[in-house]
Amino acid sequence: MKLFEQQELLIYNSLSKEKEKFSPINEGAVGMYVCGPTVYSNVHLGNCRTFLSFDLVFRYLKHLGYKVRYVRNITDAGHLENDADEGEDRIAKKARIESIEPMEVVQRYTVDFHTVMNAFNALPPSIEPTATGHIIEQIEIVKKILSEGYAYEKNGSVYFDVLKFNEDHAYGKLSGRQLEDMVANTRELAAQSDKKNPQDFALWKKAEPQHIMRWPSPWSDGFPGWHLECTAMSTKYLGSNFDIHGGGMDLKFPHHECEIAQAEASNHQSPVNVWMHANMLTLNGKKMAKSTGNNILPNELFSGDNDILSKPFSPVVAKFFMYQAHYRSILDFSNSALEASEKGFFRLMDAYRSLSGIEVSETTNFNIGEWRQSCYDAMNDDFNSPVLIAQLFEATKFINLLKEGKATITKGDLGTLQSTMHDFLFEVMGLVDVSVSDNQDGNKLSEAVEILIELRNQARANKDFATSDQIRDQLLEAGIQLKDGKDGTTYSLN
Ligand SMILES: [Zn+2]
Repeated sequence: MKLFEQQELLIYNSLSKEKEKFSPINEGAVGMYVCGPTVYSNVHLGNCRTFLSFDLVFRYLKHLGYKVRYVRNITDAGHLENDADEGEDRIAKKARIESIEPMEVVQRYTVDFHTVMNAFNALPPSIEPTATGHIIEQIEIVKKILSEGYAYEKNGSVYFDVLKFNEDHAYGKLSGRQLEDMVANTRELAAQSDKKNPQDFALWKKAEPQHIMRWPSPWSDGFPGWHLECTAMSTKYLGSNFDIHGGGMDLKFPHHECEIAQAEASNHQSPVNVWMHANMLTLNGKKMAKSTGNNILPNELFSGDNDILSKPFSPVVAKFFMYQAHYRSILDFSNSALEASEKGFFRLMDAYRSLSGIEVSETTNFNIGEWRQSCYDAMNDDFNSPVLIAQLFEATKFINLLKEGKATITKGDLGTLQSTMHDFLFEVMGLVDVSVSDNQDGNKLSEAVEILIELRNQARANKDFATSDQIRDQLLEAGIQLKDGKDGTTYSLN
């Protein structure tokens, strides 16, 4: 029996604004699409929080036994400076400023994004498609929407006709915006605009002569509108109706609203069953912004090279910190909050590590079964990681009593405690036990192991293989594995 048959998962759906029982379209399989980064600059910590929120979702769904196809795109064309179809393409602009090819910009920041996600120990998605790799699919959707009568061409560009669409569909249902209010609140269209109404959005834009990123199409040499790529790639890999679509809260409008309109206009069905939105990250109570200096990049956080925090923080500590807030709440980044999280993180890791040295007994004075289910209950309640972490701290208290000889545990319960801690810490949250190598105790440990490696080398030089083997075997028993390589001996913790 799969875990998902035993656990009832509720997910907050931004569309219905309610927590709903999750049941995928195809039994046992989940299709999930998350809007990925626009690769024109280093990934922001706020974006990282979004991607780490969906890493938790991805990991938990997999842990429950679902076969998950997770698609997260790379936006490498079409995203203009102004989200509403105006200004220069973000990637082309960066390429112009740095005098390099747009695809060099894309390559540089895609690598940066992957490096940072890797440092956070986030799992890669199942498919990571690019906008430029799906121009043909995007052109096909534009043709479809034109033939359905929900778009019009003007001077080589194609626009989505929002008012026409709203006559027989509900535009604004995700963001809760009323089209009438939107119309009333927009300034008069600039005379040179080709749009019939300011709410209309570009499906295809004719490229100006200086625009480098351009593709041929039936309407002009140009490029696709930003919203279109996600409709093209999500439906291509997940079908015209799939389970989960996620992204940052700021994408709800206009991006996701436009995705719904495009998909409904071309496929005659609602594309997504569950819309999920991750909330933003603030820094010292204020919005993070490059322009004000109230900003910190992931690498500056990991290296300590910044004016905001007192020391470097490990990526997994930062990840743990983020999971101490629910993904739908705003989270504030500050030195004191991170330091508190780091202490908690080490406490959890110490407790987990010490389980291997616990003596078993005839009885247990802790309800392990109930505690284990409460960990699942937390995650089943819309991925409530802060409650899960609180449960893990409950177990830590009990483990400390065990260590002090003030409580007992049976062999079976110890096994359950160990495997449950392991599952939630490492599999579901994707944490890594960095405390051993990163903190002071870790340094002492590594010094001690180096001394033993040196003693073993001496024994081997003296052909005293009994002693050298004994050192290796006893270290292995203690969970420290020596590896002999051509550059000497290294060790790893099992
Ligand atoms: Zn998107």
